[in-house]
Amino acid sequence: MNIAILGSTGSIGHSTLEVIRKNKKDFSINLLTAKTNHKLLIEQCEEFNPEFVYLEDEQARKVFEGNLLDKKLQTCVIQSLKEFEEIIGCNETDVVVAGMVGIAGLMPVHFAIQKGKKVLLANKESYVVAGEYLNNLCKETGATIFPIDSEHSAIHQCLNNEANKSGVSRIILTGSGGPFLNKDIEEFSSITPEQAINHPVWNMGKKISVDSSTLMNKGLEVIEARWLFDFENIEILIHPEGIIHSLVEFKDNSVLAQLSNPDMKIPIAYGLGYPNRINSGSNKLKLHEIKSLHFQEPDLNKFPCLKLAIDLLPVGGTSFSILNATNEECVAAFLDGRISYIQIYEIISKVLDRIEIKTVQSLQDIYESDKASRLEASSIINNL
Ligand code: MG
Repeated sequence: MNIAILGSTGSIGHSTLEVIRKNKKDFSINLLTAKTNHKLLIEQCEEFNPEFVYLEDEQARKVFEGNLLDKKLQTCVIQSLKEFEEIIGCNETDVVVAGMVGIAGLMPVHFAIQKGKKVLLANKESYVVAGEYLNNLCKETGATIFPIDSEHSAIHQCLNNEANKSGVSRIILTGSGGPFLNKDIEEFSSITPEQAINHPVWNMGKKISVDSSTLMNKGLEVIEARWLFDFENIEILIHPEGIIHSLVEFKDNSVLAQLSNPDMKIPIAYGLGYPNRINSGSNKLKLHEIKSLHFQEPDLNKFPCLKLAIDLLPVGGTSFSILNATNEECVAAFLDGRISYIQIYEIISKVLDRIEIKTVQSLQDIYESDKASRLEASSIINNL
């Protein structure tokens, strides 16, 4: 099987290559892409020998090309976005791993779905903002989506690809609760970026760590799950150990759960190997060492960002892109020290009141609401 990894120098790209390293005879690399990290990309080329690479940053691309010549590697460097799309869509690409972050992932994900590819989706933003639209497109083109998000992969595994969900009564999405699960609500106003990016279970980028601390990440995951599984009855369960990655309840009140150590290589190996199971290289789960698992309901007063996201489920349309864009702006402002922790929620809530929510007819509608929301958020932040 031939794989295109978009964002190969990031954490998902890194984990994907680790899984491929364990299964070298079954997979080859067609395309690796990165934004600027030409140093790591050349190391990946030496080891995995991809047919093509694409570096978004022109300066980095030039340096990379020089290094490629020095090392006498055969990899072909793509020069334009158009060529990049052609490689994603070509017959030689079987699987597209969408590992890049942010709304920038929407275009390539859309393109891979248009071409009917098997997509391993780590870019949750694309399904948050355009889930309904992309679902319809999947039906037309026969593209399949395998979520690389521990919770959504767990749900996928519990559903066992059941096309008919009439037997399912509830999806229960778990979350660790983040670093402030037991913090007094009175102390929330003084939370610093350093405290917010210190996640107890997962080691992640700054943006997603802040989202995990506000539980906005869980809110975005509820929206993502709503579209990935075309199912609305989704509840959140706080589970600090992060061992049960999610559960599915059926009509007879039987509940299936997926358990493993927190390790992204498991969802990646599940998606790459499906319908077979392959070696993920992850450590075995030792429940006798963990001994006990804990659960509680989420506190929506303490974590109002989660409530914002849940309340948007029946609203739909561009509301999800307003939420996502405004959150990105607010988290960046918080990390820069321009707004306080509790202002993240206050500003998102204001922007949701101010920007008109429309139905999504095309990706253009999403890009427009994304832009309008960012402008509105920036103007609120600048006038504070
Ligand atoms: Mg997750």
